[in-house]
Amino acid sequence: MMITRSWNKKATLIALRLCIAAATGALLILYPPAAGLTGWLLGTWALYVATTFIYLVLPAHWFRRRRFDVTFVAIEIALLGQMFAFYGGPESWFVYPLFLLTILLAALARRVAWALGLGFAVAVALALMLIDSGTTQIGAIILQVGALLTTAGIVGYLTEELGHEEVLSSQFESALEVSTLLAEAIEVESVYRRLTEVLGHLFQANRVAVILAEPGEATGRIVSAIDASEVVEDLEIQLDRYPEIQIAIDEHRTVVIERPEKDPNFERVKRHLTPRAAGATILVTPIRRGNDVHGVVFVRLEKSYRVFSDQEIRFCQIMADIAGKAIQRAGHLAEVSEAARRDPLTGLYNVRALQQALTDEIVRSERTGAAFSLVMIDIDFMKHINDTYGHPTGDQVLRNVANTLTEQVRQVDVVARYGGEEFGILLAEASGPRAMIVAERIRQQIEARHHDGVREAVTVSMGLAAYPDDASSSTDLIRAADQALYASKHQGRNRIMRYNDTNCISANEDAEAFDLARQPRPHDSTVIRTVRDALDGLHTNQQIMRQVGAVASLVTLMQARDPSALEHLSDTATLARLFLSHLTVDERERATIHLACLLRDIGQAAVGSAILNKQDSLTREEYEAIREHPVIGAQIVAPLRGLDPIVPFIRHHHERWDGQGYPDGLTGSAIPYGARVVGLIDALYAMLLTGPGASRSHGVDYAREEIARNAGTQFDPELAKRLVFVIDSNQDAIEALGVTLDAEAPGVIVGAVRQPDAAESS
Ligand code: GH3
Ligand code: MG
Ligand code: MG
Repeated sequence: MMITRSWNKKATLIALRLCIAAATGALLILYPPAAGLTGWLLGTWALYVATTFIYLVLPAHWFRRRRFDVTFVAIEIALLGQMFAFYGGPESWFVYPLFLLTILLAALARRVAWALGLGFAVAVALALMLIDSGTTQIGAIILQVGALLTTAGIVGYLTEELGHEEVLSSQFESALEVSTLLAEAIEVESVYRRLTEVLGHLFQANRVAVILAEPGEATGRIVSAIDASEVVEDLEIQLDRYPEIQIAIDEHRTVVIERPEKDPNFERVKRHLTPRAAGATILVTPIRRGNDVHGVVFVRLEKSYRVFSDQEIRFCQIMADIAGKAIQRAGHLAEVSEAARRDPLTGLYNVRALQQALTDEIVRSERTGAAFSLVMIDIDFMKHINDTYGHPTGDQVLRNVANTLTEQVRQVDVVARYGGEEFGILLAEASGPRAMIVAERIRQQIEARHHDGVREAVTVSMGLAAYPDDASSSTDLIRAADQALYASKHQGRNRIMRYNDTNCISANEDAEAFDLARQPRPHDSTVIRTVRDALDGLHTNQQIMRQVGAVASLVTLMQARDPSALEHLSDTATLARLFLSHLTVDERERATIHLACLLRDIGQAAVGSAILNKQDSLTREEYEAIREHPVIGAQIVAPLRGLDPIVPFIRHHHERWDGQGYPDGLTGSAIPYGARVVGLIDALYAMLLTGPGASRSHGVDYAREEIARNAGTQFDPELAKRLVFVIDSNQDAIEALGVTLDAEAPGVIVGAVRQPDAAESS
């Protein structure tokens, strides 16, 4: 478009100049000037022709330049002015000022028509003056007048052109500026504001507004507006008062109304029209988001002579379209950036968002002096939950915990999923002690929550660090809370610890000790997994579950003697579970007896392996040493808080119903119930391992018979009967146990097997 315009301009100028050159040339030949001036005027004429040819070779785009227009006007004035002024000699001196006046008026008019009108008036005056002076021939006068008119036309054309270009370039610039700004706009609000500013400036409008409303809605919201110089924003309007807006929205089209008071659409709202609005011109164009109308741009001009040109209407529509696209994009951007801050599984914020929030909160805290806290949370035994109930249930647990966290804090707090099954909460404006109260409440709520399909309670361990007391940067704060969390885990889980708490082994003064605690956690090993599995179903007994680490240590000790200790552990757990499920014991007791079954032989750790693995008959000393194992086992376990309830069961698991057992020779119901159960499991397991024959079923049959046979002598008769029943009804499960049938079984089970033999010899 620009190139064509330049071409038009160049061609028009050259054509006009050639006309003038031809006219003045003819004038010079037909009516030779006053003597003495001929050579001078011919020279000027030649110069004029020459410059016209120079124009011809100049590149078209030069003609677009404003500098060129100024130069051109100056050249025209100099050359043409000289020719006209001197043509008639000194008597017609007034030609030159009139010529200048014409150019000036034509330039001010900025329209070809006006310039020609003014030029004509001046030309008539010139003609009259020349005739009056009587020095100029009539033909010369006609040509001079013609040339004057042509000059007026040229200047008028140029200035009009210039004006057009100014408007165009200012529209073009605005469009460019708006689209750049809109493309850069990250929030929709800035799009609205920018749009009103640009349109207000461009149309010199009395009112520009962006109104959000969708088809069928009764109200709209002014999100940005300029009313004269006053800025109005965030105002609700009743759309039935604004028929032009309703039409634009409902019919998806631009509406232009000149004089609303006369418009039939305004009939029912006429009485609401202010005098200013009544005579105004209104332009409303929809802002589209995709295919839907999202709102409108409203422009009102109040000067009675101002109307919208087609070009202006088009321009406004284009602006509205650009804005619509920008709004759509900004919306997407907002969604995307929000999504980038969220964790998809739980909908909580992610690490990045939490880190950002911490940084922001530190800045805020510096300013206001308010402390805040960070709580790090890790679900206890999450692996176990996944392993037992499957990952989908695990995920559901994660979501439930996330919901509880969100429910328990205020809107200003930031809850994030830190990763895996770990969470972080920024408790705004909560100092350490206050945050501890909140965290404890959270802990309790999580513990109390039921999870569909999960039998045990899910608990969390938490670590808390406060800013600025416990750390001076966000990184340090996270580290501190993390250390406190590990300390919570270390202390047995389902609890909260604060970083600078004296109980917290992570306290600054004992960093070394803490580093040790942070070494690869023992529960990552197979031992802890097996122990957890072996304790499966006992999660209701928090006290025991907190001791998984201790149990794992004890099992590791057993393992040092017997590499298949873990296998024995699993199988014993299966037997214990089977048996216990047929006994009337409460949940707590079941857990305790179950654990005692697993740890019953821990005391053998103190018996030399030479004795345990001895194949020949034992000497009296050796037998005594073996008989010590329940006592030693009880001593090992006794100091472990949480495990202490199993102490009597371990100590007495080798007592006999008839009082012939050890270490205390208790009789009948004087033997603790749990110890009688453990004794039965111990015997059953030993017999399963050492029963005659190569097949498991032989082992099971043998064990069944032995138990039945020894009921009332070695075993509690009632319990023995139950166990026989359990064996009968779970034959397959017992046969399927993983332990190899091996008559030369390792020493772990030796105590039970060899006892009759050795006892008889004493
Ligand atoms: P504890 O924290 O009490 O020491 O034991 P834990 O079993 O929770 O151990 P740890 O924190 O080391 O293990 C994290 C486990 O959480 C590992 C993985 O099975 C589980 N987990 C992590 N992310 C997800 C997840 O998105 N979904 C599910 N279902 N499980 C997850
Ligand atoms: Mg974890
Ligand atoms: Mg965990």
